Amino acid sequence: MTTATKDLKRLAEEASVELADATAAEALAWTAETFGDRFIVAANMQDAVLVDLAVRAKPNVDVLFLETGYHFAETIGTRDAVEVTYPSIRIVNAEAEQSVADQEAEFGPLNRTDPTRCCFLRKVVPLRKTLANYDAWVTGVRRVDAPTRANTPTVQWDDRNNLVKVNPIAPWTDEEFRAYIDSHGILENPLVGEGYLSIGCAPCTAKPLPGEDARSGRWAGLAKTECGLHG
Ligand code: SF4
Repeated sequence: MTTATKDLKRLAEEASVELADATAAEALAWTAETFGDRFIVAANMQDAVLVDLAVRAKPNVDVLFLETGYHFAETIGTRDAVEVTYPSIRIVNAEAEQSVADQEAEFGPLNRTDPTRCCFLRKVVPLRKTLANYDAWVTGVRRVDAPTRANTPTVQWDDRNNLVKVNPIAPWTDEEFRAYIDSHGILENPLVGEGYLSIGCAPCTAKPLPGEDARSGRWAGLAKTECGLHG
């Protein structure tokens, strides 16, 4: 581990304590002040909540979109609408080295035969390459998303990608999240209105069953619950 990485890790550990009870606005203000141009906000384009919060701290913030090539048309449309709504941001489309067509020609439908490998090639590797250009990233992970996310802190060290990870809306309940969308008129992916509560790639996203958590529709029927980005 380099000295710079050790310093960042220590910073994350200290901030994890100091910002444990910070509001989303406070966490993002700290992120902007601490990292300047060296942080990026991840957006899955299910909605623009995190982008809306982030531009209040840094209007020209970088926004990361994992362009896997397997998204719903509505998700790509939401990305484009976010770009128009927040013209000062810069959207960084992180793509896999192979196109979908080339990957399927070489390996077949990996999203059915080996989704972990597919996510690795189309999400984990592009994310890692993009994050190598930054000291921190901001995510929209919330504790209520799924049992695997129940202990998500506001600030943490991201061991996989070697940078600081900030989760400003980690404590938000579904009601608080919905209230922010409604009171600020936030853009949402039209699929949310159709019952998709956690939107990923089209082949791996279904509507959750009644009473199940929002992410239960992701890789439905498989043991897989995370892409390898957060857990
Ligand atoms: Fe591939 Fe599905 Fe993972 Fe998208 S979510 S990268 S289609 S396995």
